[in-house]
Amino acid sequence: MDEMQNPSADAQLDPRFGQAAIETQDDLEGDTLREECGVFGIFGHPDASAITALGLHALQHRGQEAAGIVSYDGARFHSERRLGLVGDTFSRREVIERLPGSVAVGHVRYSTTGATILRNVQPLFAELNAGGFAVGHNGNLTNGLTLRRDLVRGGAMMQSTTDTEVILHLVAQSRRSRFIERFIEALRTIEGAYALVAMTNKKLIGARDPLGIRPLVLGELDGCPILTSETCALDIIGAKFIRDIDPGEVIVFDDNGAQTHKPFPLRPPRPCVFEYIYFSRPDSIVHGRSVYEVRKNFGAQLARESHVDVDVVVPVPDSGVPAAVGYAQYSGVPFELGIIRNHYVGRTFIQPTQAIRESGVRMKHSANRIAIEGKRIILIDDSLVRGTTSKKIVRMMRDAGAREVHFRLASPPILYPDYYGIDLPDRGGLLAATHSIEEMREIIGADSLAFLSVDGMYRAMGYPGRDSTNPKFADHCFTGDYPTNLTDQDQIEHQPRQLSLLAEAS
Ligand code: SF4
Repeated sequence: MDEMQNPSADAQLDPRFGQAAIETQDDLEGDTLREECGVFGIFGHPDASAITALGLHALQHRGQEAAGIVSYDGARFHSERRLGLVGDTFSRREVIERLPGSVAVGHVRYSTTGATILRNVQPLFAELNAGGFAVGHNGNLTNGLTLRRDLVRGGAMMQSTTDTEVILHLVAQSRRSRFIERFIEALRTIEGAYALVAMTNKKLIGARDPLGIRPLVLGELDGCPILTSETCALDIIGAKFIRDIDPGEVIVFDDNGAQTHKPFPLRPPRPCVFEYIYFSRPDSIVHGRSVYEVRKNFGAQLARESHVDVDVVVPVPDSGVPAAVGYAQYSGVPFELGIIRNHYVGRTFIQPTQAIRESGVRMKHSANRIAIEGKRIILIDDSLVRGTTSKKIVRMMRDAGAREVHFRLASPPILYPDYYGIDLPDRGGLLAATHSIEEMREIIGADSLAFLSVDGMYRAMGYPGRDSTNPKFADHCFTGDYPTNLTDQDQIEHQPRQLSLLAEAS
């Protein structure tokens, strides 16, 4: 995956969507699209917090900036939220002991809305007149800024700068009698992408936006229900996978069992296709498909569409590995680990100075000279955003003696920004949106460059191609076909001063 602004730390917010500008450099994968956040919740288990911590650890790839857990012990809510990795805090017994109770919800964060400051760490918690309420959110609301402006004008006092907080205020301000009605009324007001895990003193609640853009699954451990972003978080604790939470479904667990609500008109689902391309862990099953198998199919389809005569297939680790396996298996060209990743460097928060970025690269990834010297190689990566990291990779292969360096991306060119929780830069920052394939080839210095076609992406998923009348996925970063209204975006374009002021304040 190539050069992407990783919003982290509290930097100047991009007034349109609060995207931070500080880079977290994680060398060859450093500038990657980062999924924004993972959620986990469990009901009725005596070790609820310890299990939630393990679940969040398995979801660490969805957010490395901060983590939090809220639990309820039958009398009181307990909350522990920290900046940093899950293991930095929640591996410590004394912290888990401060989270008693049999219900817990947790969140790992990567900020796209709101800076990386403690008050933005989720789950967010508030004492409402209906009692305590905690919520963790994966996704991004496309009318969050507009709702926030209206709530603040109505006298609401915001505690965080996240879009998620508007959900708390909408529930608090609802005049409905039952809690679940208040919650559903709030969901009917928000738009965009959300997978939510929430809790009250009696309930664990899960909800997915009506199009199912972000994933949410149901599992079970020792008879206790679990809600989480990916099946890998069930595997780590030996929990059984039950099913995906349906798009537009609100599921509630309490002492009486489970109740499902479907408050939205049925619409064709549009799950985010990037969960398969990059976000979800390869060992997760997303909407019934193995992420690993789908990525291998992307690689095989890439070989079908744009093979070139080479000696070895080299993945850009780790995210390019499954597609490179698929490419090698289909083309019959040997697969070689031409780039070695040092997994013990961990993610580094580096101030964005070119020199440091350069050293960052060498620290984590290095060329495996024996596998590539004198060879014609084809590099396989999952996607390209800005092109700067791809450029470094090509140069590193040439410096290590590769005779030819061909570059292939196991996803189509990214042409449009995302407003559903992924920190894609705006169009100006997307290399493919501003350059032809040939210009990009020259910029990264490869002998040839090709992307998976949009139809090829759908074929690799088992469809005849993309049906523009009924696309099966949210794929708008490739197609520009946004599946929901973009209220904030529209407003910013028409009333820039008002909302961008709000964005700057958030
Ligand atoms: S733009 Fe759409 S397809 Fe691309 S990452 Fe975002 S939600 Fe997924």
